[in-house]
Amino acid sequence: MELLVRPKPFIDESFECYLLRLAQENGFESYRVFSAVVHEWLMEQDHRAAGAFPRSLGLLNVYHANRSSSLRVRAIQLLQHLSRSQELPLLKLAVMHSSATFGNRRAAVFRDGIDIPRSFLRHKGIPICPECLNEQSYVRQHWHLKPYVACHKHGIELVSHCPGCGGLLDYQESELITHCDCGFDLRFAERKSAKPEALELSTLVAGESVAGNGSPLAVTENLSVRYGALLWFESFTDSRLEEPETFIEVVGFFETWPQGLMEELEQRRDRAEQWLVKGYNRTFFREVYGDLLLDARKLPMRDIGRNFVLKAIVDYLNELVRVKPLSKQANIADVLLSLVEAAALLSSNVEAVYRLYQGGFLSLAIRPKGGTKLEPQTPAFRLRDVMELRLARMQSQNDGGDRHLPAW
Ligand SMILES: [Zn+2]
Ligand SMILES: [Zn+2]
Repeated sequence: MELLVRPKPFIDESFECYLLRLAQENGFESYRVFSAVVHEWLMEQDHRAAGAFPRSLGLLNVYHANRSSSLRVRAIQLLQHLSRSQELPLLKLAVMHSSATFGNRRAAVFRDGIDIPRSFLRHKGIPICPECLNEQSYVRQHWHLKPYVACHKHGIELVSHCPGCGGLLDYQESELITHCDCGFDLRFAERKSAKPEALELSTLVAGESVAGNGSPLAVTENLSVRYGALLWFESFTDSRLEEPETFIEVVGFFETWPQGLMEELEQRRDRAEQWLVKGYNRTFFREVYGDLLLDARKLPMRDIGRNFVLKAIVDYLNELVRVKPLSKQANIADVLLSLVEAAALLSSNVEAVYRLYQGGFLSLAIRPKGGTKLEPQTPAFRLRDVMELRLARMQSQNDGGDRHLPAW
């Protein structure tokens, strides 16, 4: 088997779209027919890899494969050699599993060097921009992302349902790029101007800068960091970015950064003060601030040089400890952190902080019952002690996380 035509991929083209065009331009009547032929060919080359090659376009991408993802990569590598001229650029376009996680163990996928929260990927339905399709008929990768809500190039809303039949648009189902199943030509869909906030969010999600927006979200050149901060915003405010009220809120929230964060943290503290039934020295950090540190600890970086959300939280807690010195009566700076939370504040991992504790650099405020091993989630360290350790041992904002730790 050999593919004679090798279409040039667009830099922002989705993997599924490229495979669909590859099938079409080589004369196959549908992707399903093409994938059956590829499957048969793979069976002769490497039957295990063939088993990991799905027939339907919607399941094709590497991140859909769980245990067999390395086999799927192998199948795609074999496929890369099917053209007469150069290798096909398939893996560069594919979305794969990432070893990175965001915040509280939220999974990431990876495309061409960028970590993307898996929860940002649309499951059903991929909306389109009629103007983009009119210029070049291919599917843009960012149409697959939920927080991409409008076309940042043309300033118009994305079209999610067919204007002809009302059906949900999904080229992975229909195997059609410019048309709906019913025959409607999507390039003629009505253009509706998008709201400025929708455009601003979409511009950021597409990896471009927004004129006049100097917020850390907009100025970071690392798109993984930008996605991390947006995902964190969802957890912090318990919202979904693709909902209209949220995308209006998120743009303002980061433009006035860190004001919104500070106000919310002060409110959480006031609420705790009103309801507190035990002393601060027996109160857990998470009873006052919720999952604040767990959600911000990796976005997907954990050093405060790049994780600007964690940096703002560290600055806030530094100030809190500074204005609330140790006194006879316990105060807010005496609340208890777990190993995981302490690790977040020290931009480190749980094992390293455990060793700090074993080495006597960090003392327990509460002993685990009956001499049992300290569990990662058990509140045991004073906020004050952790912050002082941080100040004493971590002067650089760009350390990789473990450099401040003693050698052993
Ligand atoms: Zn467009
Ligand atoms: Zn239709």
